[in-house]
Amino acid sequence: MSEQDETAIQRATRQLENAAEYVEIDDDILRRLEHPQRTHKFTMPFERDDGTVDVVEAYRVQHDDVRGPYKGGLRYSPHVTQEECAGLGMWMTFKCAVADVPFGGAKGGVRIDPRELSDAEHERLTRRLTKSLRRYIGTNFDIPAPDMGTNARTMSWMMDTYSVYEDETVRGIVTGKSPDVGGVRGREEAPGIGVSIIAQRALEHYGYDVNDVTAAVQGYGSVGANAARHLDDAGADIVAVSDAEGAVVDHDGLPTYEIKSYEEKPSAVTEYDAPTITNDELLKLDVDVLIPAAIGGVITSENADEIAADIVVEGANGPTTSDADEILHERGVTVVPDILANAGGVTASYFEWLRGRNRRKWPKEKVMDELALEMNGSWEDVVEEHESLDGASWRDACYVVALKRLAKAYSERGMWP
Ligand code: NAD
Repeated sequence: MSEQDETAIQRATRQLENAAEYVEIDDDILRRLEHPQRTHKFTMPFERDDGTVDVVEAYRVQHDDVRGPYKGGLRYSPHVTQEECAGLGMWMTFKCAVADVPFGGAKGGVRIDPRELSDAEHERLTRRLTKSLRRYIGTNFDIPAPDMGTNARTMSWMMDTYSVYEDETVRGIVTGKSPDVGGVRGREEAPGIGVSIIAQRALEHYGYDVNDVTAAVQGYGSVGANAARHLDDAGADIVAVSDAEGAVVDHDGLPTYEIKSYEEKPSAVTEYDAPTITNDELLKLDVDVLIPAAIGGVITSENADEIAADIVVEGANGPTTSDADEILHERGVTVVPDILANAGGVTASYFEWLRGRNRRKWPKEKVMDELALEMNGSWEDVVEEHESLDGASWRDACYVVALKRLAKAYSERGMWP
């Protein structure tokens, strides 16, 4: 298999197998975790605004629920495949275990280009998807959330459609909704802020003063822009940011609030008045911290030798291929993996899910305080494991933390073969 052909599920499985070398774990549990528990594939008719009907493919892959209900995003993207959902679902299982939130892992999506959808089409597609999915999700079974191409509005439509079928308002069926219908303030910023918190802890760990730090951020969406702004607020210079059109660079530091995020205005980054470079050039900048926060598979064996950052903090899911991961590890580049770094999203989702169950309000300050507490706690758990393992990468250490928690849950509940 060539590196380009490595699917998300193959990458996730390889990471799991690498980490399993460092921990004594029952082989049956390991084999259980290598396979998703359930895979749902749907085809759905979907009416366009002009009255024509498309048939689109949708997936929901439920990887593992030993620690709690399945949890994970739904994406609208032309690249959605069953293998991608399976890999992303597996990463969710490990992310929830590292973050120690009581959820398992799932992921789903519709293979469609969200940029071609009018608002009315987005709503129709979402309601049709919810109809197809409703027997396979539930507040105590599988709780979707937004991901690429979906947002708070998508989740509010899902919640509404599900509630119509149930004849009652079921707030806990999704997270990432608008705060007006049961979401929590700060959920949108949480994944990016979590990335910044973990980046700061990694910098401290390696003896950096954040005020002297330079950073480059690929992707200026929900994760990238919020991470860049939070790290900027902490004192770092954000010297380059990008979106799908390209990157802007200023070695004295960019004004992260002046540059519009994807949510505020898609494709606005290169409109900012500063020299432009390509996304690949951004990845190779000589900065202290590199945060890939756009798409998967951007750091490959083609460019891993030229990554000049000391620390890579993975904001996106799966931005580093397996071959690149090995090269970076051999070169001594620290890679803080996605399953730890971007767990702020699912952590805030957990607060929202609790709100859906007990109806208590979660003011934004409380969300931010608890988020920092949880992210810092996860970091400490991983540091302890990293220090006890000889020669392991941060990714291995994260997987070992997660594997131990998953194995304990399996041995407590039993596998029921
Ligand atoms: P988003 O849609 O808000 O933003 C994505 C950004 O990446 C945009 O600026 C877009 O222009 C840019 N981009 C797209 N293709 C690109 C390319 N080829 N090169 C460079 N930039 C490109 O998405 P998001 O929610 O910020 O998600 C980004 C990543 O973070 C994804 O991998 C997602 O799975 C992951 N993630 C998201 C969340 C969340 O809750 N939003 C949580 C955890 C992980």
